[in-house]
Amino acid sequence: MPASVVLLADRLTKTYRTPSGADVHAIRDASFTLDAGGTLALVGPSGSGKTTLLGLCAGLDRATSGRVELAGRDLGPLSEDARAALRGEAVGFVFQNFQLIPTLTAIENVMVPAELRGTRGAPGTGSVRERAAALLADVGLEDRARHYPTELSGGEQQRVALARAFINRPRVLFADEPTGNLDADTAALVESLLFRLNREAGTALVLVTHNPDLAAKCGTVLRLRGGAVVEAPALGAVGA
Ligand code: ADP
Ligand code: MG
Repeated sequence: MPASVVLLADRLTKTYRTPSGADVHAIRDASFTLDAGGTLALVGPSGSGKTTLLGLCAGLDRATSGRVELAGRDLGPLSEDARAALRGEAVGFVFQNFQLIPTLTAIENVMVPAELRGTRGAPGTGSVRERAAALLADVGLEDRARHYPTELSGGEQQRVALARAFINRPRVLFADEPTGNLDADTAALVESLLFRLNREAGTALVLVTHNPDLAAKCGTVLRLRGGAVVEAPALGAVGA
């Protein structure tokens, strides 16, 4: 993969076998590339495979067939541990339902990926706690640092999740409907923060969204239907 490409999906397929024995073809033959520092929106109706594709590309889940290259590494041969290490170094992930740890405060949640990364250290200056505090301030939550997730609104939890996803300065940030649960003002704040991280840190963005304005701000829009990419401007001859 050329050095300028940070994410490559080549004929990816994900088939779930359900208990009844029926196959669900969640992703079918999906191919695309994303340049380092680029922005990509994944759009499509509910059930079209957006979350599945995000998980495959971020190394959270394994494809049934096809190939993913992330930050210069082919995910296929990597062990679970090696994939976890690569995620820690190169990936930020904002889940659709936040997945904050309920027993940790906001600032402790933001610190988790940096703590997991441990002695290999994360980029940036200052202690992990200082960087987490600065990120919480960036998302407008400096006065909520000691609150637990149950003491935060949905929009506040979403912003904590975003700060957490960025603590290791990932090369790619994956976000599953990052503005889906937010009022218009908070959505605008999260959106501007995402694109600021993209501009200032060169973090590539892969965003699942139902918001046409947000999708329109991305360099590439991939539309999924029934697990297949049905619309992809500038789709290169990946793997050809
Ligand atoms: P989207 O995010 O676009 O709403 P998903 O990626 O969540 O879509 O799901 C795509 C399809 O795969 C859906 O039909 C869904 O029911 C199915 N699916 C997702 N996860 C599983 C699973 N763990 N087992 C079986 N089917 C699944
Ligand atoms: Mg989804």
